[in-house]
Amino acid sequence: MRAIRRFIVRTVLPDELAPLDELAHNLRWSWHAPTRDLFAAIDAERWAAVGGDPVALLGALEPGRLAALAADAAFVGRVREAAHDLHVYLTAPRWYQQQQSAQLPRAVAYFSPEYGITSVLPQYSGGLGILAGDHLKSASDLGVPLVGVGLLYGSGYFKQSLTRDGWQVETYPVLDPDGMPLTLLREPDGSPAVVTVELPGGGALHAHVWRAAVGRVPLLLLDSDVPENDDAVRHVTDRLYGGGGEHRLRQELLLGVGGVRALRVWSRLSGAPEPEVFHTNEGHAGFLGVERIRELVATGLTFDEALEAVRAATVFTTHTPVPAGIDRFEAKLVAQYFGGDNETPGVPVERVLALGAEDHEGGDPLVFNMAVMGLRLGGRANGVSLLHGQVSRGMFAGLWPGFDDVEVPIGSVTNGVHAPTWVHRSLVELVQRRLRPDEVASGSGWLRTGAIGDDELWSLRGALRAELVAEARVRLRRSWLRRGASAAELGWVDDVLSPDVLTLGFARRVPTYKRLTLMLRDPDRLRALLLHPERPVQLVVAGKSHPDDDQGKRLIQQLVRFADAPDVRHRIVFLPNYDIAMAQALYPGCDVWLNNPLRPLEACGTSGMKSALNGGLNLSVLDGWWDEWFDGENGWAIPTADGVDDVDRRDDLEAAALYDLVEHQVAARFYDRDDRGLPTRWLEMVRHTLATLGPKVQATRMVADYTRYLYVPATAAGRALAASDHEGARALAAWKARVRDAWEHVHVDHVETGGIGEVPQVGDELHVKAYVSLGSLDPSEVQVQVVHGRVTEADELDGYAVDALVLAETFEAGRHAFAGDVPLQRSGPFGYTVRVVPRRDGLSSAAELALVANAPA
Ligand SMILES: *Cc1c(COP(=O)(O)O)cnc(C)c1O
Repeated sequence: MRAIRRFIVRTVLPDELAPLDELAHNLRWSWHAPTRDLFAAIDAERWAAVGGDPVALLGALEPGRLAALAADAAFVGRVREAAHDLHVYLTAPRWYQQQQSAQLPRAVAYFSPEYGITSVLPQYSGGLGILAGDHLKSASDLGVPLVGVGLLYGSGYFKQSLTRDGWQVETYPVLDPDGMPLTLLREPDGSPAVVTVELPGGGALHAHVWRAAVGRVPLLLLDSDVPENDDAVRHVTDRLYGGGGEHRLRQELLLGVGGVRALRVWSRLSGAPEPEVFHTNEGHAGFLGVERIRELVATGLTFDEALEAVRAATVFTTHTPVPAGIDRFEAKLVAQYFGGDNETPGVPVERVLALGAEDHEGGDPLVFNMAVMGLRLGGRANGVSLLHGQVSRGMFAGLWPGFDDVEVPIGSVTNGVHAPTWVHRSLVELVQRRLRPDEVASGSGWLRTGAIGDDELWSLRGALRAELVAEARVRLRRSWLRRGASAAELGWVDDVLSPDVLTLGFARRVPTYKRLTLMLRDPDRLRALLLHPERPVQLVVAGKSHPDDDQGKRLIQQLVRFADAPDVRHRIVFLPNYDIAMAQALYPGCDVWLNNPLRPLEACGTSGMKSALNGGLNLSVLDGWWDEWFDGENGWAIPTADGVDDVDRRDDLEAAALYDLVEHQVAARFYDRDDRGLPTRWLEMVRHTLATLGPKVQATRMVADYTRYLYVPATAAGRALAASDHEGARALAAWKARVRDAWEHVHVDHVETGGIGEVPQVGDELHVKAYVSLGSLDPSEVQVQVVHGRVTEADELDGYAVDALVLAETFEAGRHAFAGDVPLQRSGPFGYTVRVVPRRDGLSSAAELALVANAPA
C-alpha cells in the first residue's frame, strides 16, 4: 500500500544527552576521532551498520536505550566533555585571530557546485568537491571566517555498481535532508526561509536553505525540492552534474544568484557579518557577480561602477585545462534569463552577455563561457598548481591581447588536503606519542630515527596494508554478489590480495585524460608484473565514470574484465563506488600511489597528496602538484612523451616507461630487505616523503596562502572602492572609461638608445629614450616600460624583466619623452622593446585593463 503522506519522526533526546544533537550535527566529528568514539560507544554494532553516521545512529535508538544512557553517569560525563571540547574548538582564537593585518576580511563567501565533506553527505563527484570540503575544514581549523555556498542535490551524485559483464550501473538513492546533518534555515516565525530566483516568462524558482556546520564554517545549501515550486522547477537540484543545457544553467543560476541571496538571508537571520570577499571554486557559480552588480546598481551605482566594486572583491579559481570541465551555454539561452521581463534596470542584458562572451581569437560568438565570465568578474584569479597556473595563462591569453602569456594575470595556489580527514588514525596516534609538536609541524620528526624506528614504521605500514586487504575482500565480495554470483562461487575472494605484497593504488574519476587503462597497454607485461615469482605487485583500482560518458564506462569494463581473469584476480581488483569512505581506507593501505594523466591536463591532483601523508610513495607523471614537488627521493616520475602527437604511440611509450619503473625500481626497492627483513632504502623514501611533503601538501597551508595572497589583497581593494559610498569605485570606473576611450591615440613613436659601444659588454648601461604619444592622457596615468632580457633566434623575448622609464620631456600635442638606463648584466643574446600600459594606484596588475601599446617592430 502507498502512504499518502510521509514525515520523519525525530528522536527526542533526554536532557542529559541533549549535547549529542549538536555533536551529531556539527561535522567536525568527521575529522575528530574522539567524537566518533563517543558515538561508537553508544552501540558499536549499530554504529557500524549505519556506516558511522551519527544522525542515523541517534535516529535508530529506542527510548529504552536512551534512558539507560541518560542514567549512565560516566557516559553522560563523556558527552559533556565532548560538547565542551567542541565548544572550545568553535570559539577559541586560532591562527586567523593571531594575524596582524588590518585588511583581514570579516567574512569570505566560498561558492562551489559540490562539497565532499563526509560520506554521509554525498554531495560531490570527485576532486573539485573533495577540495571544497577540505577548504572548509581547514578554514575552520585556522579560524578563517568562511561561509560556504552550494546546492543540496536530492540524489547527490550516483552510486556505482557493475553488471556481470563489468559495465557501470548508476543508481540514485533519494536523500532525505531530515536524515542528514543539516538544519533548515527558518524565519523568526518558524517558517522556512525562502530564496527566489526569477525565471523567463514570469516564472520563479524558489529554494529553501539548509545549513551544514563544518566546524566553525557554516555551509548553506540551496534546495529547489520545495512545495512552493511547480514540478519541473522542483527538479532543478535533483542531481549533481545530471543534465546539460538549460537544466545546468538553472542550477548555476540558483547557485550564483540564489547563493548571494541566501547569504543575505543568513546574515539577517544569524547576525553573521556580510562577506567582504567572494571566492568562486571554478566558474559554475559565476552568476554571483551579476547578482552583486544588480545589488549595487540598485543602490545607485552604474553598471561599470558596480563591476569595479565587485571585481575588486572577487577571487576566481580555475580548476581544469580540460574543455569539458568548463561550462559553456548558448548565449541566447542566458539572454532569456537576464533579458526581457527579467532585465534589471541599469543591468542591460548585453552587458551581462558580454561578461561571458568568447570575443577573443578562436572564440565562438554564440557561446556564453563561465570561465571567461569568472576571469572578467574576478579581480584576482589563480590556477591550482604552478604548472596549471602556467597552462591557464596560455589557455586564456586571448583575453589579454598584446601581452605575453607570462603576464596574463592568473597566478597559482597549489592545492592541499585536510590531514585530520585523510591520515589514518594509527599513524596520527603514533605521531602524537613519539614526536614533539614542532617536529610534526616542520616534518623533521620523521628524520629522527630514534623517535620512530624502522621496524615500527614498517610494521605500521604493514598493518595499514593488511587493513586495506581485508576491506578490499569485503567490498569485492559484495560487488560479486551484486553482479549475480552466488556465495558458493566466491571462496577465492578470501585469498584476494596479500598483506605482504607491494600494493599500488589507482583511484580517481574516469575522464579519458586520466588514462585508467594505461596499465593495460601491454596486458602480458602487466600480468608478468602481477605474477612475478619473487617481486609481485598487486593493484587496487577504483573510479566512477560520468553517467553520460560511455567511453569512460568502456575503460572501466576493460579493466574489470582484465581483473576478472582467474589467473590474475588475486592480484588486481576493481572496487566499485569510489567515495570518501573507500578513499579513507585506500590511501593508507597503498605503498605506491599511481597517477598517469595525459600531461598537462591534471590541474593539480590531490589523491597522491593524501597517500603521501600516510607514508605512500608517488609514482606519477610530472603533472600538477607532482611536477612541482617531485624531488627525486620522494617517489618516481613516469617519463612522458610530451612532444609525440600520435596518442597511441604516446600511450605506448609512457606505458612502457611505467612498466620499467615498476619492475626495476619500485618493486626492486620494496623487496630489497636487510637482515632484519626491513626494506631500509624504501623506508628512507617514506621518511623523506613524510618529512618534506607532509607540511606542504596540507590544506591549512593552502588556505593560509589563499588568505595572505588573495583574500587580504581582495579585502583591501574592495574596501578602498567601497568607502564613502563607493567613491573609489566611481572614480576607477570613470578613469577606466577615459583610458579606454583615449587609448587609440596612445603610441610608442620612436625609441633612441645610447651608452653602449660597437661591442656591448657586461656592465655597460643601455640608455633608453622613448618618444610616446599619449593623446589626452596625462603622463602620470601611464607607465612607459622597457622590457628586456634574453632573446631567442626568432627575436622573441624570453624570461624578461620590466623596468619603468621616467618622464624626461614634454612636447606639444600630448607627446612626451621617457628615459632610463638598463644595466647589461648577462652575456649572450639580448633584446629589448618599449611599451605603454595604463597606470594607477590599486590596479591588481599591469594587464588589468588588457590595454597595451607596444613599440612597432
Ligand atoms: C581525493 C579524492 C578525489 C580526487 O583525486 P584526484 O587525485 O584529484 O583525482 C576524488 N574522489 C575521492 C573520493 C577523493 O577522496
